[in-house]
Amino acid sequence: MTEQINIEELFGKNVFTVGKMRERLPRAVFKEVMKVMEEGGELSKTSADVVAKAMKDWAVENGATHYTHWFQPLTGITAEKHDSFITHPDEEGRTWMEFSGKELIKGEPDASSFPSGGLRATFEARGYTAWDITSPAFLKEDATGKILCIPTAFCAYTGEALDKKTPLLRSEEALNEQALRIVRLFGNTAAKKVTTSVGLEQEYFLVDHEKYLQREDLIFAGRTLFGAPAPKGQEMEDHYFGAIRERIGAFMKDLNVELWKLGVTAKTQHNEVAPAQHELAPIYESGNVAIDHNQLVMETMKKVAGRHGMNCLLHEKPFAGVNGSGKHDNWSMVTDNGVNLLDPGYTPNENIQFLLVLACMIKAVDEHADLLRQSAADVGNDHRLGADEAPPAIISIFLGDQLEDVVRQLVSTGEAKKSKKGGKLMTGVSTLPDLEKDATDRNRTSPFAFTGNKFEFRMVGSADSVAGPNTTLNAIVAEAFCEAANVLEKAEDFDLAVHDLIKEYLTDHQRIIFNGDGYSEAWVEEAARRGLPNIKSMVESVDALLKPETVKMFERFKIFTKTELQSRAEILYETYSKTINIEALTMIDMAKKQIIPAVTDYTGGLAQTVIAIKEAGVEPKAQKKLLKDANALLEEMVKAVETLEKDVAKAVKMEGKKQAIYYRDTICVDMTALRTPADALERIVDKELWPFPTYGELIFEV
Ligand code: ADP
Ligand code: MG
Repeated sequence: MTEQINIEELFGKNVFTVGKMRERLPRAVFKEVMKVMEEGGELSKTSADVVAKAMKDWAVENGATHYTHWFQPLTGITAEKHDSFITHPDEEGRTWMEFSGKELIKGEPDASSFPSGGLRATFEARGYTAWDITSPAFLKEDATGKILCIPTAFCAYTGEALDKKTPLLRSEEALNEQALRIVRLFGNTAAKKVTTSVGLEQEYFLVDHEKYLQREDLIFAGRTLFGAPAPKGQEMEDHYFGAIRERIGAFMKDLNVELWKLGVTAKTQHNEVAPAQHELAPIYESGNVAIDHNQLVMETMKKVAGRHGMNCLLHEKPFAGVNGSGKHDNWSMVTDNGVNLLDPGYTPNENIQFLLVLACMIKAVDEHADLLRQSAADVGNDHRLGADEAPPAIISIFLGDQLEDVVRQLVSTGEAKKSKKGGKLMTGVSTLPDLEKDATDRNRTSPFAFTGNKFEFRMVGSADSVAGPNTTLNAIVAEAFCEAANVLEKAEDFDLAVHDLIKEYLTDHQRIIFNGDGYSEAWVEEAARRGLPNIKSMVESVDALLKPETVKMFERFKIFTKTELQSRAEILYETYSKTINIEALTMIDMAKKQIIPAVTDYTGGLAQTVIAIKEAGVEPKAQKKLLKDANALLEEMVKAVETLEKDVAKAVKMEGKKQAIYYRDTICVDMTALRTPADALERIVDKELWPFPTYGELIFEV
């Protein structure tokens, strides 16, 4: 039954890889492409034409009919507008396939409907897309046929970024420049480039398609807006890493094949904590490519689920009361000669460099904790952050026992000579402690954890693009590196200066380090005492984007202009309001057309029964009580619908931040007031009458 899968043959089949370029391009052109890939700059016009032709020939040989500039507008999804390779027919009515260097490098989609946060006036609504040569072109196969996708950045004619990729690329450049200064200080003259390595663990839910279609909330909002908990939840812990059921297994297998063809290194798959929840993790790769690939992972999950009669829910909280979904963002920095800056390392030199890098990161995260929190904010993530299955909304850093001990020694004495356990690396400098490799333990409650040779940012939402979080992370680390390099490049006694700087940074920013239980109430109080921000909602988080320190940092490293930040803030408020508005309207619809009629039927039936039993000469005590209870809840529901309708009418007339705050403080509260009696009714009303599948049916019967 199971056909043979040959991964080596499949892998990258649909990607125009460096290997394929080497095969198909003249040597000189290939060399030019590699140079631009590694060092930036632009391809010459003639080379671009040659590359375009080779790319088109490869695509057409593999069945492609169209190409598209594949980009990531501020909606968070990827966008594409297909153009066929077809040309104007000649006099004899023949056409042929053509694709020029110009078409490869620059596109002009009439994309005026994407959110721009006021960046584009309507008279200059056009934006353009520009090829990102560092992310390989690929073929997407679906019902539309085969489409050659060219990863691109999307900008306004005035140069402002209208997408998520442009600032990400700018931040990678800033980090590269500043990180090189750091490694140079430690005598690394061979490295020419520092890039990020990023591995994104993607959580998701699968539900049956037939059941999905019966729930307007899943269709319109991607999450359930009503629903009483099932008798069983995740308390038995029998789903996490459990055996994978046949139907899910078939999905995973198919998904892997599709991803491998796209050159995505799908590696691990397992069941997650909640019933119907699963995870996929690829092997890490260069940040920009990893993020493009994550967009493809999300898209492919949805597509493949469809083939298996299921729907993939990427929402951060599809079901109340069970585990939500996140995306662990594993992040490190590596030089082109293979040194991971977050690896404690084997030589004394590497070890001190590691401690400096660590100190810089601690400083960066402490100084910009609110901004980092903002970078992980999206509407769905509000249900997750701060609730007790997810990292809390407070940013803190987990270092593990050994590193924390090292930090403590450095801060308290500045003379730390040894670390906690034996078998360690020698730093060679008496005033710096020795480090043991891989002594980190795992703390699942920390939002920002050091895990051996990388940091794991666990706040990111499952449905969100990681471009935003990583742009911020790259930027704040670049800033800290820059400041450190400014001091150290001028130092007379380098060893001493490094030591003092590490000590200074750790002392000033140790409040951000927390190794304990991030879910506990005690931590919330402790964090407040330490003065750490606890930003509970997406709306509240947006302020961090426009703070003077933020604007200064992003402008200094040419990642965002103030105008771009303002436009992004505006889009965030808009997105929040629109999303909650859709949820509210969906609830009103479901309540009025589905739940209320069902409950009316139910109470009507009960009333008939009460009369009949009375006529038979018996007192219908139980039935009367049921009727009274159901009726009271129904009344509460009807009232809640009225309030919600009234408030939504007010909300839609507002704008910007004020509107978003109103949605959060009033509409969300109204929604809960409507959901509560409805969920209580679900527990009473005859199952046959309930208008849509319940939690039990959705998450246990996939
Ligand atoms: P977990 O225990 O959280 O599942 P894993 O060790 O399996 O952690 O790694 C999770 C992700 O981190 C994978 O995508 C993996 O490729 C990635 N990863 C491993 N090492 C690094 C690194 N140095 N930099 C960035 N990502 C990494
Ligand atoms: Mg993880």
